[in-house]
Amino acid sequence: MKTLKIAVIPGDGIGNEVTAEGVKVLDAFAAIKGNIQFEYTYFPWGCEYYLKTGNMMDVDGIEVLKGFDAILLGAVGYPSVADHISLHGLLLKIRQEFNQYINLRPIKLLPGAPCPLKDKGPEDIDFVVIRENVEGEYSGVGGIRFPDRPEETAIQTAVFTRKNTEKVMDYAFKVAQKRNKFNKVTNVTKSNALNYSMVFWDKIFKEIAANYPEIATETNHVDAVSMYFLQRPESFDVLVASNLFGDIITDLGAALQGGLGFAASANLNLEKEFPSMFEPVHGSAPDIKDKGMANPIAMVWTVKMMLDFLLEDEDTEAIIEAITQVLLEGKSLTPDLKGSAKTHEVGDAICEKLKGLL
Ligand code: ATP
Ligand code: MG
Repeated sequence: MKTLKIAVIPGDGIGNEVTAEGVKVLDAFAAIKGNIQFEYTYFPWGCEYYLKTGNMMDVDGIEVLKGFDAILLGAVGYPSVADHISLHGLLLKIRQEFNQYINLRPIKLLPGAPCPLKDKGPEDIDFVVIRENVEGEYSGVGGIRFPDRPEETAIQTAVFTRKNTEKVMDYAFKVAQKRNKFNKVTNVTKSNALNYSMVFWDKIFKEIAANYPEIATETNHVDAVSMYFLQRPESFDVLVASNLFGDIITDLGAALQGGLGFAASANLNLEKEFPSMFEPVHGSAPDIKDKGMANPIAMVWTVKMMLDFLLEDEDTEAIIEAITQVLLEGKSLTPDLKGSAKTHEVGDAICEKLKGLL
């Protein structure tokens, strides 16, 4: 029996509700497999914790989390807590302290999920974005000169290191190899305007590409990529993008795959020196909190990604299949999908389908 220690941070708002469904699916998967079990430790961190204690997480939080195999995060955010406090106090802190330099975002339209592009279907929308996750435009380097004077000037510097950029690019090529779809990596750049950072980015891309002669490459500016997402999403396989550009295009991708209810993500430290963190892309959605209206599919997809990282087990595909069956059946869907089921009923339905698949 293999035991995996999971640190669970349900966070705020609908984070709690969707996390419960993710854990339910993990347990269902473990029960069916019989050879793994999950040991959960819950941490009450987040914005509500901040309002009580003045900290988003415990001061020794990072030390404590080091002992886990993975971190499962629900959502962090609260109307009265500024985004930069919640982001820097927890999410970005964990990403950076644990050097989770890869953000992995599958963009896949499942059969039965709503797509805003009327002439595109599940066969057209199936790609992966690899986003650089610890540096680039989000490095936090900069400052304000001459504050509150007419000359006031804000400076925000992007930082790209060779070491990190190489690792991100290399992972993109490895993912393309593994997917074996078109064996293609698209480099998302803006080197026509960003004459240091993105010219460097393109140079590293070319160097790494040379190690993978069997993988085709294309390089497109981020503005063009945004347009191609809508015009020809079927042309993509794997994309590699900087922190800022990846952030933006993956939200566009979320829309293509049916909205925030479907967007799952992984923050990976590939070397496993530290735990990796798995979270749905959506926030705490205070407007629907505690109403049982939250769609748990993004979280269920997220735990599937966690399993993929922790285990080498092709049976995890059954989780996506179970979600698809629930979507196609149409009986257990939350209001965002025009259904009337509660969050926990969707989780139950997915577990039920999973049992029939494995
Ligand atoms: P935060 O400040 O934590 O980012 P937010 O108000 O930006 O929260 P998001 O969760 O990012 O909210 O999503 C915006 C809106 O999309 C929500 O207000 C909600 O109506 C909807 N939404 C997001 N996630 C879900 C979900 N899992 N199920 C149903 N609706 C969702
Ligand atoms: Mg938000």
